[in-house]
Amino acid sequence: MKQILFFLFLLPLLNSCAAQDDYATARSNMVRDQIRERGISDSRVIRAMKKVERHRFVPDRAKNLAYIDSPLSIGEGQTISQPFIVAFMTEQLYLRPGMKVLEIGTGSGYQAAILAEIVAEVYTIEINAKLGKSAAKTLSELGYDNVFVKIGDGYLGWEEHAPFDAIIVTCSPNEIPGPLKDQLAEGGRMIIPVGGKYIQSLVLNRKKNGKVKQHSILPVRFVPMIDSTGNRY
Ligand code: SAH
Repeated sequence: MKQILFFLFLLPLLNSCAAQDDYATARSNMVRDQIRERGISDSRVIRAMKKVERHRFVPDRAKNLAYIDSPLSIGEGQTISQPFIVAFMTEQLYLRPGMKVLEIGTGSGYQAAILAEIVAEVYTIEINAKLGKSAAKTLSELGYDNVFVKIGDGYLGWEEHAPFDAIIVTCSPNEIPGPLKDQLAEGGRMIIPVGGKYIQSLVLNRKKNGKVKQHSILPVRFVPMIDSTGNRY
């Protein structure tokens, strides 16, 4: 009888260990199949994708889907990008430790956490207060004290912390916002989805001698960048 009781007591513990392990396995499979096999080779990006617990950034009902090859809904009509897109965009920024990065569209905070594993400081702006607050809470629970979340309109950038060594935009405007070009450091890189409502191009911008050179890389589909009245930029 005592043994049975002991076993019953252990069962939930064993279950929670198994759940942790499931995520670790799912995460390492994700990195192998969706990230490395598709050509992502920057070791800093791979290390970050292996470490950050994506399931902590998705709503409870979607935790079991956290490592699948797809974007996921995070509420408020918004989505967390597919893991490959997160890794691809991050790799395009040529990040180095010590850099300062600006993200527009905090969403769940997952992309910000990936950046924070690689660089010194991450400034991230979210226009939806509910999402921004929830992301800030998740990031602080996970100990990311080098991520600074602001609720506001990212079209305008974050002047007081500019210039940024890299800028990543995870919502899509019709044109590249002027303030973001201005706030990019000399030699810096910005990755941004630009185009129409339903289909956009992922555009890489590099600033040389004060001028921004553009280069389209991939067709993509992101949620729109909106202003404070809800209109698409
Ligand atoms: N990077 C996020 C996914 C972002 S989804 C992640 O890792 O989870 C795009 C986000 O951009 C949405 O949360 C949306 O509310 C936000 N957004 C849209 N327009 C914006 C603007 N003008 N400024 C800041 N955020 C904006």
